[in-house]
Amino acid sequence: MDADVIVVGAGPTGLTLAHELALAGVDVALLDKGPGRTGESRALNLHPRTAEILAMRGMLDGAEEQARARLETTHFAHLPVPLALDGWNSRYPYQVAIPQAEVEQVLEEHLAGLGVRVRWNVEVTDIEQDAERIRVQAGGTWVEARYLAGCDGGRSFVRKQLGIAFPGLEARWFGTVSDVVLGVAGEGIATTWDTKGSPRMRPDGSFANIFPIGNESDRVHRIFYSVADQVIDDQRAKVPDTEVVAAIEEFYGSETEVKEVRWASRFSDASRLAEHYRAGRAFLAGDAAHIHLPLGGQGLNTGIQDAMNLGWKLAADVAGWAPEGLLDTYHGERHPVGAAVLTNTRAQVALGQKGVEHDALREIFTQLLALPEANRLLGGAISGLSIRYDLGGDEPVGSRLADMVLPDGRWAGDLFHQGHGVLLTALPDLVAEAAPWTGRVDAVAVRELPGLSAEAVLVRPDGHICWVPGTPLADALHRWFGAPRP
Ligand SMILES: Cc1cc2nc3c(=O)[nH]c(=O)nc-3n(C[C@H](O)[C@H](O)[C@H](O)COP(=O)(O)OP(=O)(O)OC[C@H]3O[C@@H](n4cnc5c(N)ncnc54)[C@H](O)[C@@H]3O)c2cc1C
Repeated sequence: MDADVIVVGAGPTGLTLAHELALAGVDVALLDKGPGRTGESRALNLHPRTAEILAMRGMLDGAEEQARARLETTHFAHLPVPLALDGWNSRYPYQVAIPQAEVEQVLEEHLAGLGVRVRWNVEVTDIEQDAERIRVQAGGTWVEARYLAGCDGGRSFVRKQLGIAFPGLEARWFGTVSDVVLGVAGEGIATTWDTKGSPRMRPDGSFANIFPIGNESDRVHRIFYSVADQVIDDQRAKVPDTEVVAAIEEFYGSETEVKEVRWASRFSDASRLAEHYRAGRAFLAGDAAHIHLPLGGQGLNTGIQDAMNLGWKLAADVAGWAPEGLLDTYHGERHPVGAAVLTNTRAQVALGQKGVEHDALREIFTQLLALPEANRLLGGAISGLSIRYDLGGDEPVGSRLADMVLPDGRWAGDLFHQGHGVLLTALPDLVAEAAPWTGRVDAVAVRELPGLSAEAVLVRPDGHICWVPGTPLADALHRWFGAPRP
């Protein structure tokens, strides 16, 4: 074998997955057909759950240093009542405003620290697998491994080659995104990066929004615009700079001076979900598994969360201790999350449509969002904080372990830097019971667990609680961490 796992695609999903694998000592080959990082950033945010995840691996500090802002709320379909992000007992009750390229850079640096470098200019063009191994044709040679992960974006070659269906909705609406350097920002253009920006709406449904995403000195601004009823035949065709400049002038006046169009690209409301996240020895994660309109900024975030769910399971299998069926829990847990993201983005698309009835829907929804319970429901979904897997137990089993401050002053999330499971308990007997799983589960004795009524919790490496007292601890240890060491 040339590697234990081949990861195709070094976007945020592939980088996170490769990091998870390398952290567990897995030999990973990370291949990308691009010549290197483009510096282009579609995503601009880390939602609270993603921030928690990166912090669990000690990777958030660098990203927070580079962040432009902390956004204390998020939105649903840009309705006027914001979604609150507090009240979840999170260390990050805010979105970290940071361009995707910088998140990728942070991930790549951490990965390099574990000795893994992206193999750029290596395109995967064929895949073969049998019961024992999987092989890809990559850059003219065959590379062989035990498993493969397709993190190769919305047009995923891996997904197509595996014959995994990608049902959903065709694009009916198109938008354009661009980063521009402004010489002069006209009146009314936002001067800080916040969730509102400088929206402009036209009665015919055309809209634009622009806001600064650079440091003060570089004057880089992000613009989104959409022209009513515009149909784009070739979404991949280069967007002419002149079109971007004309759109800015049209929406924000001729006094706004565009010095440079850094890049521009089209996006659409197409929404699709892979029917299966696994085919034999291959898995899909990130945009390869789900695409949708970037409303609420959830694509990169969902991809990083997919990778966090898959990484430790694949590593356990490679290390030889994965319990029966562990790898299949990836589809079982993450496919419903992908489906839920599609549902909330489709609902937002519906709310954004023009017409008297949609105006009425927006009005009713705005009233609903003022109700704390409705606001929390959607805030929890979009931030990722309410994601709960069906692990076969009552709350809090399946939910994330809140990133609480422990009695010894440490953050709970910091216990996960090694990528192991964690048993947090005030009961010394339980610490002894988990001892045979040392190396997979770190037992941490704590006086109490603030905010939890349980005296102990067993938490998986991805931060989700998989056991609280009520059933034998040993059963849960076997179920999630395999047979104990002899
Ligand atoms: C306008 C816009 C705004 C967005 N805003 C947000 C936001 O605010 N928040 C958010 O969370 N998300 C946002 N997104 C979505 C986010 O950008 C994507 O979800 C994210 O990039 C997906 O990451 P990924 O790693 O799964 O795939 P990608 O980033 O697409 O990476 C895939 C990689 O695979 C490589 N590749 C492809 N095919 C092959 C092959 N055959 N062989 C080898 N390598 C291959 C590619 O070169 C690429 O590097 C936005 C998207 C758009 C279009």
